[in-house]
Amino acid sequence: MPNHLKETINKLKERGGNIKGEALLSDIEALTKIRDKKSVDIVLENMREMGEKIDLKEIKSSEWYPEYLLSSFIIVSYQFLGLTEKDIFEWGRTATKVSFIAKIILRHLVSIDKAFEECSNYWRKNYDFGNLVPVEMNSKDKYAVVRITDYLSDPLICTFHAGYFKGILEFILPSEKIEIKEERCIHRGDSYHEYLISWGEKE
Ligand SMILES: [Zn+2]
Repeated sequence: MPNHLKETINKLKERGGNIKGEALLSDIEALTKIRDKKSVDIVLENMREMGEKIDLKEIKSSEWYPEYLLSSFIIVSYQFLGLTEKDIFEWGRTATKVSFIAKIILRHLVSIDKAFEECSNYWRKNYDFGNLVPVEMNSKDKYAVVRITDYLSDPLICTFHAGYFKGILEFILPSEKIEIKEERCIHRGDSYHEYLISWGEKE
């Protein structure tokens, strides 16, 4: 077992913070869509060997669980399943399609402006730490800027979130081409993560 992996997990554990059971489950389940069920079992087994037990059957949708379990699951998957950053992005994107609550909430986000206004509340439903801050919305030039603050994790999770944003935008703007770019990042010396979200007609 690589030592640096254990260290990363311990750091995430010390940071604290919780995620809603529903989000934890659907984010993990989304791995079966980009890979398969066996891959989930492999990762769970590797985590168990590191002393981190996740019993999927015991997780209740409406309860809170330590977020480091999800971040660790993603990091361990990357390590042991040979995933690429592109796979992690795709995983985040797919997670929005799996989540039951995301689907219900997204049904009410009929416009990009509404989604922008509501993004902090959406974050708060899934996490009890960090913030998703709407910074700028420019419907004319078709871009928006959002920030994730007070959220220290791992660069892979930034990519996962980027994919997640893309998945959400695809619900709202199904006929547009959507691009997500993380322009600032805590892991590159900035004091928050900042994403430029842009859309435009498909070619
Ligand atoms: Zn970042």
